[in-house]
Amino acid sequence: MNFEYSTKSLELQDKLEKFMQQYIYPIELEYLEFAENNPWQIYPKIEELKNLAKAEGLWNLFLPEEYGKFSPGLTNLEYAPLARIMGRVVWSSQVFNCSAPDTGNMEVLAKYGTNAQQKKWLTPLLNGEIRSSFLMTEPQVASSDATNIETSIVKEGNEYVINGRKWWSSGAMHPNTKIYIVMGKTDPSAHRYVQQSMILVPADTPGVKVIRPLRVYGMYESPEGHAEIELDNVRVPEENLLVGEGSGFAIAQGRLGPGRIHHCMRLIGAAERALELMCQRVSKRTTFGKQVSQYSSIRQDIALSKCEIEQARYLTLAAADKIDRHGIKEAKDLIAMIKIVVPTMTCNVVDRAIQAHGGMGVCQDTPLAAFWLYGRIIRIADGPDEVHMYQLGRNLIKKEIAKE
Ligand SMILES: Cc1cc2nc3c(=O)[nH]c(=O)nc-3n(C[C@H](O)[C@H](O)[C@H](O)COP(=O)(O)OP(=O)(O)OC[C@H]3O[C@@H](n4cnc5c(N)ncnc54)[C@H](O)[C@@H]3O)c2cc1C
Repeated sequence: MNFEYSTKSLELQDKLEKFMQQYIYPIELEYLEFAENNPWQIYPKIEELKNLAKAEGLWNLFLPEEYGKFSPGLTNLEYAPLARIMGRVVWSSQVFNCSAPDTGNMEVLAKYGTNAQQKKWLTPLLNGEIRSSFLMTEPQVASSDATNIETSIVKEGNEYVINGRKWWSSGAMHPNTKIYIVMGKTDPSAHRYVQQSMILVPADTPGVKVIRPLRVYGMYESPEGHAEIELDNVRVPEENLLVGEGSGFAIAQGRLGPGRIHHCMRLIGAAERALELMCQRVSKRTTFGKQVSQYSSIRQDIALSKCEIEQARYLTLAAADKIDRHGIKEAKDLIAMIKIVVPTMTCNVVDRAIQAHGGMGVCQDTPLAAFWLYGRIIRIADGPDEVHMYQLGRNLIKKEIAKE
């Protein structure tokens, strides 16, 4: 396997790093402070930054080349190092129109949307004019098993009527979020993997009620947030259904492959930055007559962190390469492996960096607390660790048995 990046990817990495240096790092903490103190308001400079990124050609880079006219033409392997650079500042990917959940939703619309659906929703999403949310998880059922989902999508004449309650709808609190992709059941009596469908629901449809924003470790994660939403007799035209009745589960499976590469590479970028900050900090402080960097426990933490980051990075690049060359289905074991390995690695590395910073590590003066939070939530979001281990273990056993 050759992980040398293409010239195109290297040029974009260079451009992106310069952009981050010039525009993003200088306002990194100011942004987080604004978000914390002004819930559901958009940081004033975001649109200006988006326009600058667009002008530099640093826009929609996540959308792989297979999406033809919609894609800037990178493979997953070429995009992976760019996501890594964006991950060094937790909020930066939105500036490049590369943030979740919009990325996954844009992929769904690019892959499965009709021309009319694409014109109405994909075009403004690709232009960065609107945001979106993905509504699958429900409070009343264990949603890590997506077959448990209970929201009903019932055909009445030329409309679908939707009833249910969702939560952890990331992005739904953002003032620019105009469209939801909702997963529910069109036929609860069908085979368990074809009961589900996905449907487009404009956020302002009558019957959509945002009940409350959920806090993550006490934080709103504004302006995107995570909402609990009630869908009470929500009516949408039949043409809002994606693909056809019964295809929801298959769409959900396809949606999450590249998205996991993006999350993992961003987390790797965050872990690398945490390690850099740790090295800088321990070189500046002295205790008991010795520079903190000279203690062997600190050096071991640094060495171990570097080993863990590099292991995770190569594994993630291998997964990206496998998707590019063999497709998501063939890459599913590697995708599960990175989802199991990378968020925990990030939490461990960032935790060591926090410890080495002392009190400074847990306050708002560094991005470390935000990095740790990101790693921790990805151990649950997009499927908890245990579910990926359960499925990976099952696949490996199946493969062994098949050899007999
Ligand atoms: C910050 C954040 C953002 C999110 N964003 C979105 C979003 O945008 N849209 C959306 O639809 N959802 C989103 N989610 C929801 C997320 O995908 C679910 O929380 C996740 O799939 C788990 O479902 P659950 O919360 O119902 O937990 P449950 O299904 O109740 O599972 C609870 C626990 O049970 C254990 N468990 C489950 N299955 C197994 C198993 N096979 N083996 C061993 N143990 C097991 C695990 O420890 C698991 O964490 C988000 C969640 C968070 C925290």
